[in-house]
Amino acid sequence: MGDTYETIDCPACGHKMKKIFLKDAGVNIDVCTDGCGGIFLDNREFKLVDEQHEELDEIIQAMENNEFAAKVDENAVRICPACGAKMVKNPTSVKGEIIVDDCYTCGGKFLDHGELTHIREEYATEQERAEAAVRAFLYSPEGAELNMVNKVGDRVQRKMDGRNNSALFKLFTKMFGV
Ligand SMILES: [Zn+2]
Ligand SMILES: [Zn+2]
Repeated sequence: MGDTYETIDCPACGHKMKKIFLKDAGVNIDVCTDGCGGIFLDNREFKLVDEQHEELDEIIQAMENNEFAAKVDENAVRICPACGAKMVKNPTSVKGEIIVDDCYTCGGKFLDHGELTHIREEYATEQERAEAAVRAFLYSPEGAELNMVNKVGDRVQRKMDGRNNSALFKLFTKMFGV
């Protein structure tokens, strides 16, 4: 999904989202500056802002002095503002503390106000996040079994076929290269 210039409505509160241009990353990010403070990102955009060293100044400035009075129900099923598919709630890491809305159709992600900061504090880099996920998996009963048979790629693929396409399993795919 490329950058669009079309204004989108916030999937959490319905307000028009504002395009904030991130100079360092060279992309427009949709931010709900007048409603709930949520952020919509496509998959490529998320990778440009989820690590601590990546610049977010323009988003922080746009958020400053806003109250984000719009009430949102974080448990409600949200509709992807980019493609109209139902979004799915997933934890951002094995810690399971932060739940974001993922769109499996177009790869979009919606983060409620404050979640991006929280995600960036969770792990310093994507590498650390992925390693923690793999470690957690290897210490699980399935993971221990995998270690013994040493056929990681094959078995992980089979495990993944039987499960949903969650962010964690996408990470396993990335780490094991299957
Ligand atoms: Zn909103
Ligand atoms: Zn979508």
